[in-house]
Amino acid sequence: GLARFPFHRDLAGFDFAAQPSIDRGQVRDLATGRFIANGEAVLLLGPPGVGKTHLAVAIGREAIVAGYKVLFVPATTLVATLAKAHIEGRLEEKLTHYAKPKLLIIDELGYLPFEPDAAHLFFQLVSRRYERGAMLVTSNRAVGEWGTVFGDPVVATAILDRMLHHSHVVTIRGESYRLREKRRSGLLQ
Ligand code: ADP
Ligand code: MG
Repeated sequence: GLARFPFHRDLAGFDFAAQPSIDRGQVRDLATGRFIANGEAVLLLGPPGVGKTHLAVAIGREAIVAGYKVLFVPATTLVATLAKAHIEGRLEEKLTHYAKPKLLIIDELGYLPFEPDAAHLFFQLVSRRYERGAMLVTSNRAVGEWGTVFGDPVVATAILDRMLHHSHVVTIRGESYRLREKRRSGLLQ
């Protein structure tokens, strides 16, 4: 499809026993796509390697099966694309492009801090989608750190205000799945 997932992952392949901090019921509920029908936001938060992108792709797949248009975009690509379009006078066109799918998945917000200009562009997208389309955002940064991520606490607050209004937050704790597997197989101490 048009989703542009970075890899193939599904819920059946997710080892919930390895991540006891995740509420399976909550993830199953998200996989029904009800949050998409309601135009709500999902935040998948946690340190690197705990399965945020895996779950984002798996939920996105279920959404496609349910008939929703889904677009997956890394946060850095999204912001770079909006910034370029802004310079070229095509911002409106790109905002419309990213506002269109019923579910927009924005992956790895916070791995790099945004330029101040980027925070504004991101805010425009969030405003455009607010209460119209669902968003699923993965981030390695707690919501309290988003002011730093966006480089502008005022814009960050405005973004969070909209995103958290109708939202589902899944906070994953624990260590990286791959490191854990290596440790178990004796490859790491
Ligand atoms: P994150 O996005 O949180 O950094 P990923 O979703 O990319 O982590 O997970 C890293 C790798 O480990 C991926 O290949 C993913 O499929 C796998 N993985 C992570 N958690 C689990 C899990 N609980 N069960 C099965 N595979 C997992
Ligand atoms: Mg990831």
